[in-house]
Amino acid sequence: MSSSKNNNNKDHSSKSFPSSVNPDAVQYFLHKKKKKRTVEDFVKGIIKGDRIILSQAITLVESSRLSDQNKAQKIIEACLPYSENSVRIGITGIPGVGKSTFIEALGQHVIAKKKKVAVLAIDPSSSVTKGSILGDKTRMNDLSLKKNAFIRPSPAGSSLGGVARKTRETILLCEAAGFETIFVETVGVGQSETAVHSMVDFFLLLLVPGAGDELQGIKRGIVEMADILAVNKADGGQIDAAKNARREYRNALHLMPLKESGVNPKVLICSAMEQTGIAEIWKLILINQQLTRKNKFFYKKRKEQSLFWLHEQIGNGLKDFFYKNEKIKKRLEEIEKEVLEGRRNSFNAADELLNMFLDKKSDS
Ligand code: GDP
Repeated sequence: MSSSKNNNNKDHSSKSFPSSVNPDAVQYFLHKKKKKRTVEDFVKGIIKGDRIILSQAITLVESSRLSDQNKAQKIIEACLPYSENSVRIGITGIPGVGKSTFIEALGQHVIAKKKKVAVLAIDPSSSVTKGSILGDKTRMNDLSLKKNAFIRPSPAGSSLGGVARKTRETILLCEAAGFETIFVETVGVGQSETAVHSMVDFFLLLLVPGAGDELQGIKRGIVEMADILAVNKADGGQIDAAKNARREYRNALHLMPLKESGVNPKVLICSAMEQTGIAEIWKLILINQQLTRKNKFFYKKRKEQSLFWLHEQIGNGLKDFFYKNEKIKKRLEEIEKEVLEGRRNSFNAADELLNMFLDKKSDS
């Protein structure tokens, strides 16, 4: 009452609304206002482990609006100190090898050990027609119902680099929210494995039994990247075939150079469906983690990855800057035609565009 007597203009509380205003509208306004979270709100919420706020922050990361991006960057910056105790595991393998069944099984196993698990994905095709690999299939049904599991489909994006960046930033947010075990699933399309490799501590390659030829099917580089190879579907009539495959991969790995981590890759068999061999794989991940933390490779790799992302971002930023330049856009169209018609050589044409861009920069 006294405040109304004072009629203080600075009073912005709900009481300051004139009585003629519909109270529902007042509530709506206040709610809307409340929902517009500040960076601090986001950070506090994430650190408290609030899943809704975490999801909303990831949505900011995935947004292409500049204001969202700016906010997302501030949130990520504040979340950076919380990634010390996490373990990031990349999981790859050809479609149908059983990746999601495996993550479901391993995820349940890890949750039973009182850990919190986040499952992220990189699917560079998600922006085209297929939708996200985790989003449109009813996968990981049981895991997704667990309160200690957080499953987020692959972000959409026009380039693998863009998709990978968003996933990497999402990892940092999930870690700050207490999800200390991060799985990053990739579709086996060749390039996305490299992107995932640049953001995880360990890389697990799932294989199918009856391999032999399989080794040819998977690019050598990907086998080299793997810290753990797991021959899945070692169940029913396929157990012997899985064991054979394990032997062949073990032999093949002998020929490979020693890993920089100092920990040799291991080959195991498992059945994601029957949940056998899963505990052994988890144990191996923990041992790898222990060893590489002890010999410091774990930290070295993370630092190198941070540098890699710094340069990636600079590269992408510069490219963006270049291709969005109106003058360049116009001239590029003409130059592309000239190159296609054989009237210009590509190198000299590229030089012209770059010089044009740099001149413009030094003019301004
Ligand atoms: P993804 O495409 O790699 O994610 O593979 P999915 O997890 O979707 O599995 C592909 C198919 O393999 C499904 O029909 C699964 O039921 C089956 N599958 C997955 N893991 C196993 C396993 O350990 N044993 C057997 N027999 N089938 C499996």
